Amino acid sequence: MKHLQRFLKDEAATIELGEDLALALKAGDCVALSGDLGAGKSTFARALLRAIADDETLEVPSPTFTLVQNYDLRIPVAHFDLYRLADASELDELGFDEALSDGICLVEWPEKAEEALPSERITLTFTHEGDGRRLAISAPDISFERISRSLAI
Ligand code: ADP
Ligand code: MG
Repeated sequence: MKHLQRFLKDEAATIELGEDLALALKAGDCVALSGDLGAGKSTFARALLRAIADDETLEVPSPTFTLVQNYDLRIPVAHFDLYRLADASELDELGFDEALSDGICLVEWPEKAEEALPSERITLTFTHEGDGRRLAISAPDISFERISRSLAI
């Protein structure tokens, strides 16, 4: 694993990051979004999905109750919110494996299914820092360069 950090001074910075990362991701990537309530996970997910859809108005409902929302885009994206997952074994029933083989999986509350998620995943951890957010990114060595290059733009 390799790591990098960024300070996101406002919501616009979180959105820009989501747009930049959208250019780097490809089918088979699992992106875990960690952070407390209000840390910016959904803001990031919405920006990423809108960028892949190339549609600024794309509705991105929170999958809080459905646990997963599927998007049939240029690259298919499955947006998971595992907060209400009772057990890691249920991830299978949500179609996680199929979604990952076809496209990108974005996973909010990955802690709920730690052992069922691929170990080779990209993790974004958002924490409050002053009025902004600190973002820590960790990625497997093989995808790190692709990810970090997109953020250097
Ligand atoms: P989460 O999904 O993690 O609970 P949200 O994405 O709903 O968090 O974001 C909560 C609030 O934080 C929103 O009002 C959003 O505009 C704001 N926000 C997002 N990123 C930043 C940032 N980098 N700095 C300050 N506020 C931010
Ligand atoms: Mg949220």
